[in-house]
Amino acid sequence: MRKTRYAAAAMAAAAALTLAACGGGDDGGEAGGEASGEAGGDTVRIGIKFDQPGLGFDEGGEYTGFDVDVAKYVAAELGFEEDAIEWVEAPSANRENLLSTGEVDMIFATYSITDERKETVDFAGPYFVAGQDLLVRADDEEITGPESLTDKNLCSVAGSTSAARINEEFGAEANLVEQPGYAECVSLMGGGQIDAVTTDDIILAGLAAQEANAGQFKVVGNPFSEENYGVGLPKGSEDCEAINEAITKMIEEGAWEEAITANTEGADYTFNAELNPPTPDECA
Ligand code: GLU
Repeated sequence: MRKTRYAAAAMAAAAALTLAACGGGDDGGEAGGEASGEAGGDTVRIGIKFDQPGLGFDEGGEYTGFDVDVAKYVAAELGFEEDAIEWVEAPSANRENLLSTGEVDMIFATYSITDERKETVDFAGPYFVAGQDLLVRADDEEITGPESLTDKNLCSVAGSTSAARINEEFGAEANLVEQPGYAECVSLMGGGQIDAVTTDDIILAGLAAQEANAGQFKVVGNPFSEENYGVGLPKGSEDCEAINEAITKMIEEGAWEEAITANTEGADYTFNAELNPPTPDECA
């Protein structure tokens, strides 16, 4: 199934055109169109997290993390070099909206593929599989999984699968507080108002490894879901196939392994090797 260089280049060019058209064009794309224009035409707007170390992180205007590395690789395959990328913050609760209003062209933001989200957006990928887990104080021996959350103060993020799952499956027992981002949850736990933070294990491990949090918290290590990270696309996008090919190439070339290793270095985290790297799904 290997494409010739020409075919790949043609595909990349076609995909680049689609994305460019997407940015400049339709009704909802007003803000996007202007942004592309200002930057001189062929730019791609990519939504990422700004507050998740190791995944999507704003280090004073420099963006780092595994999502960022996958995004850069895919963008390059689609014909966008790094200086043509405009990074846009995509908090959990805003992702579908950012895509449907045309404010971003693609999202790489620990964005789980779900049937509910597929009603409003499309997904390429997955490019990673994480699992929902709990972050607790380092000396906590009581909380060992979602079953031990009765009467505990729990924090998660609005618009995430993490908050939804807790509400649906364990909501009656735990007191759930929702914040705009996981870093806010961790601050609250540092202040003693919260007993546990819940979301994907890789996100929690990255936050726990931050210098400011060193030694304070631990990931329970008992994942209770499968979170398939997809590339969020506007509904009806024609870029899914080209993105899946780019992800497959990144995995085959070893760049995927390099990126996940480099971005989890220093964190107490090992990805699930039975589920990773995943094979991208068929495009709809
Ligand atoms: N992967 C989950 C989700 O897409 C939780 C992480 C997040 O909020 O980004 O909702």
